[in-house]
Amino acid sequence: MQPFDLSGRVAVVTGANAGIGQGLALALAAAGADIAAVGRSPADATVAQVQALGRRALFVQADLSSIAPVQRIVDETLAGLGGLDILVNNAGIIRRADSLDFSEADWDAVIDTNLKSVFFLAQAAARHMRAAGGGKIINIASMLSFQGGIRVPSYTASKSGVAGLTKILANEWAPHGINVNAIAPGYIATANTEALRADARRNADILARIPAGRWGEPSDLGGAAVFLASRAADYVQGHVLAVDGGWLAR
Ligand code: NAP
Repeated sequence: MQPFDLSGRVAVVTGANAGIGQGLALALAAAGADIAAVGRSPADATVAQVQALGRRALFVQADLSSIAPVQRIVDETLAGLGGLDILVNNAGIIRRADSLDFSEADWDAVIDTNLKSVFFLAQAAARHMRAAGGGKIINIASMLSFQGGIRVPSYTASKSGVAGLTKILANEWAPHGINVNAIAPGYIATANTEALRADARRNADILARIPAGRWGEPSDLGGAAVFLASRAADYVQGHVLAVDGGWLAR
């Protein structure tokens, strides 16, 4: 019995060219999965690293600022890799401005990518998974699925929405053998948090609150993703798993 083994599974990871998505793709591949790396930018480095691990990798070009590509992502994955067992909804953006000045464009851009596309890609994947007898969906949430944050109103709304979506989809799709869960990363050193790390005061404030005493790396999230993608999590449903160095505990 190898409950965490993902051999023979196919995982779709959105936003897999960089940052957390790349880290998750490599962790799933190291556990045995083949990877469809989905994104608007080429994912050559991710594809090469997955192949170096002895797994198959496919790049699926798709801009998830609209839901236009969601069915094509499923179709290209099935055609290229022969299945779709795991979906990691990772692609996301953030816009920062005072809420008093926040624009409609910054509201719509974040909600469309972080929430609307997450739902409709999950729907397209789940239609296949239901027919195939089951699957695993992992949404990438945030500390701002639990907290308010500051100067990121559309991001907080989107990630709080992702936590709610994770629960309703678990309720509806558990009977079809589909597990829907989320990972809520703490403060991870990627392009998404570059502005925070560049602000010496915010950086010091953030570090002071992390019991682990450091920013997380994308690789810190790999174990949680492998667990939630594996048979070991067959009875885990609608959970938002914080991987945050203790941030929420403080
Ligand atoms: P990142 O390095 O900026 O990565 C974001 C990824 O999403 C990139 O691959 C990006 O592609 C992709 N993406 C953005 N808009 C897209 C679109 N319209 N179509 C397709 N792909 C798109 O940031 P990250 O930190 O790894 O973020 C990954 C996820 O983790 C996001 O959902 C983010 O909200 C979440 N998260 C991050 C942190 C953190 O501390 N870093 C904490 C909590 C949650 P491009 O390279 O083409 O832009």
